[in-house]
Amino acid sequence: MGYLVDFEKAIENHDAPAILRLWEEYTSSDEIDGEDLPKLKRPKIIRFDSNQPLKNNPKIINLAPEHVIEVATELGAKILVAQDYPICKVKGQYKRHEEFMRKLGYNVFWARQTAQLKKSRCPNMKLLIPIQCYDLAQMDTFLRAIGDLEYDGFSMPVRNHRPHEILLFLVRMKRLGIKMVHLLGTLEFSRLAISAFMGRHFFKWVSLDSTTWRIEAEKQKYLNRFDLSVRDMKQDVFIDDSVQIECECNWCGYETYTSIKNKLYTDKYCFLAAHNFWVSSKVATELYEKSITGNSLLTHVDNVCSNRKKKDDLMRLIPLVEYYQGSDPDDLLELEEELLWFKSKIAK
Ligand SMILES: [Zn+2]
Repeated sequence: MGYLVDFEKAIENHDAPAILRLWEEYTSSDEIDGEDLPKLKRPKIIRFDSNQPLKNNPKIINLAPEHVIEVATELGAKILVAQDYPICKVKGQYKRHEEFMRKLGYNVFWARQTAQLKKSRCPNMKLLIPIQCYDLAQMDTFLRAIGDLEYDGFSMPVRNHRPHEILLFLVRMKRLGIKMVHLLGTLEFSRLAISAFMGRHFFKWVSLDSTTWRIEAEKQKYLNRFDLSVRDMKQDVFIDDSVQIECECNWCGYETYTSIKNKLYTDKYCFLAAHNFWVSSKVATELYEKSITGNSLLTHVDNVCSNRKKKDDLMRLIPLVEYYQGSDPDDLLELEEELLWFKSKIAK
């Protein structure tokens, strides 16, 4: 939370160097995304040795559940996510099965070990168990393997899942009696809308964590203020100057799309990072506020979202889950079946 407060302060003060410095510090201790591993120019040596110190430098990462517990205790964290081995974004049923199996042993072992350490060393901290799975059958396998651990909720990367699949996982979690869910990965309008609605009506806590704002800034992409759609701001892109910027953030006030496009890369990156961060937070907050009912959320979606497909999917999914709002977890099997049917239709 400390970083969030500092980020917000830096954004409020228009302090782009501080935003970048905080980001560098934040990511130097961040987990490595499964997708990023193959992109490293010279792959790091990765070890999980609890007898050696915690390390994260250009050559080596050494991280074990003991380190996770030590750092969380030192920071006074209230919520702890168990160490995990993220699954990569791969396509095809067999490849996904293979990738799931390759990481399963690590994920089961670390979930169990982190839970045991947490229980003895910091029993008051909440524990979230990462769900590194592509489908519900794999999730069942993982949960059977970790057995009767004590935990408070799940964390789940959503980059591998389409909105209806995220919903399917969330409904299964609700059926299992889970109250706390942390979703991480791509920040995208439909996923946000679903998370907001489910957070408001089905769970006690749904939190989100994404670096999309920074990654898009690096790629010179400007996120739309209302639906997070992406506009390319590279030097060679044609921009119609008659299109006005519609954003009330602190940075867009005196800019045009052309003036943003023509900035030097570093200035453009600072500008886009600050704007993208602000709009990400704003869009998420608005979706949560509008989620009082399915109808109020969909009216908002209809007003702000420019993507027909996203709108159509949300128009079908939100009323479906809303119908089951307040149902006993045991009755949600029917909803799960309806979502599976939806998934089979989409796949065709
Ligand atoms: Zn802006």
